[in-house]
Amino acid sequence: MIKFENVFKEYSNGVMALSNINLEIPKGDFVFLVGSSGAGKSSMIKLLIREEKVTRGKILVHDEDITKIPNYMIPKLRRNISVVFQDFRLLPRKTVYENVAYALEILGESKKTINREVTQALELVNLRDKMKCYPSEISGGESQRVSIARAIVNNAPHIVCDEPTGNLDDHTAWEIMQALKNINDEGTTVIMATHAANIVDKFNKRVVALKDGSIVSDVEGGCYYHENY
Ligand code: ADP
Repeated sequence: MIKFENVFKEYSNGVMALSNINLEIPKGDFVFLVGSSGAGKSSMIKLLIREEKVTRGKILVHDEDITKIPNYMIPKLRRNISVVFQDFRLLPRKTVYENVAYALEILGESKKTINREVTQALELVNLRDKMKCYPSEISGGESQRVSIARAIVNNAPHIVCDEPTGNLDDHTAWEIMQALKNINDEGTTVIMATHAANIVDKFNKRVVALKDGSIVSDVEGGCYYHENY
């Protein structure tokens, strides 16, 4: 369970990016965060992974208020909540396999465990046949699937995605959505900030809409367009 309680975020330049956000996301949910540019979607994601700190309020992850944890606990938080970015952020000198394995190597896992987990993660995103390729040798959609495999390889119970299909064509975006759906079907909570109205409308999942830093709508099986935003 993830819970935002009366969360405010004001940046140092005085911009109030989020005001009084209250949101509960049960384990296993699939949530789209929508709203126009500047509405506050990325700020919510940044607060959730402690890339930014709240100005006021609480964010509970499994009943722990992550706004209060010391900095040295942040890597542990990010093993609990993995992130997928719009621009993939793969290591160019590592192969597909090595990019995914890296997340486990830094945890000190054995070679055998790494091999098993990486193979499984790459299977889930349908990329086993590309494991020896370098990022320069694969497409944008495949790169995004590698970054999803990297996000899930440590079995994080939550995955947050900031515009994961933003740089991809429609067909490729659907492949990414299929990969996210498979992961959600296995029980992982997925939170996805997006502008892709066609995907949101077809996916028929929970849609939380932000406008000027406030939640203006929260609908199960919702659509992208709504009179309030
Ligand atoms: P979205 O992801 O919906 O486009 P953001 O969360 O990025 O929205 O931005 C919300 C508001 O906060 C915008 O007005 C944006 O300009 C502002 N903002 C975002 N990041 C910063 C920052 N680091 N410093 C100052 N203002 C910021």
